[in-house]
Amino acid sequence: MTLTEITKNVYSVNGGFIDDFGFITSHIVVDDEEALVIDPGTAGAPGKLISQALSSLGIDEMGGLIGILCTHGHPDHIGGVSRFASKTKAPVFIHREDAELLSAPQVFVEKRLKLDRAGRISMKFEKGPLKVNYNAIEVDRMIGDGDQIRVGSLKLEVIHTAGHSAGHCAFFEPKGKVLFSGDELNNFPNDPRKFYVDLSGSIPAKFAAIDRLEGLDAEYLLPAHDTMHLFENVRIQIAEVRDGVKQFQDQVIDLISARGEVDLAQLIHDLSRVTSISLPTTMDALLPTTLQVALESLQSAGLVRYSDAGIWSIA
Ligand SMILES: [Zn+2]
Repeated sequence: MTLTEITKNVYSVNGGFIDDFGFITSHIVVDDEEALVIDPGTAGAPGKLISQALSSLGIDEMGGLIGILCTHGHPDHIGGVSRFASKTKAPVFIHREDAELLSAPQVFVEKRLKLDRAGRISMKFEKGPLKVNYNAIEVDRMIGDGDQIRVGSLKLEVIHTAGHSAGHCAFFEPKGKVLFSGDELNNFPNDPRKFYVDLSGSIPAKFAAIDRLEGLDAEYLLPAHDTMHLFENVRIQIAEVRDGVKQFQDQVIDLISARGEVDLAQLIHDLSRVTSISLPTTMDALLPTTLQVALESLQSAGLVRYSDAGIWSIA
């Protein structure tokens, strides 16, 4: 059985194991015969597993499922939304900055990844968790920072993190001290240093989000990929995520210093050969995309300089 009890109100349903992405985990928050599903996952298997999970928890998915909550709009999190929402009639919640990924799925390929023409073509044949193979669906409720989403007697607090993508939100259930961190505090898999952001994401926002999520003193940290973290390990995990982002930035600066002047292709090559930092390797587009966002943040901080000829150097 893929249904795991985390607390008496929180359950996880693991989707398939997919390469570097680890488990695509959906979460269910249950109280007083009501449930919320967080991130129904890819357009593949999880819908059925979630339906089975709800029924084994005694939840009527036609009346008791009061919302489908999305941490953000990436295909591995929302691919299953349209099918699951049409089946259950449950309302769909997402932050407005990522809502376009539900209402116009191709936006992910067109605007969120740094792809050349060949990359765009290869995305059509993508078989992994980032495949865009689902129908568009309109969002029922746009969520924002500070919103509260009720389920039974519990309230989930919405924390707009905006590091991993512009509309990324984490959810915190204060009674059980459970933090649903989506892709903001990752772990792909078992390596908190491994992270990526899409082109709408932001490294400064990611650092700010890490500080803010750390301040919640969560006892349960539930990332969307891979395993959960408990109690003291939550703090360790969060610190490692922060170190990973910092190491990545430092490594980019070191490589630019070593080369003097460098273009993006050379930096990607150099970074992929550095073994001291952990990088997403599943999809070719994730490293250039994350690197582009990191360079822009270093440029805004006045640490690196960009010339029109496509050359990066130390400022
Ligand atoms: Zn994501």
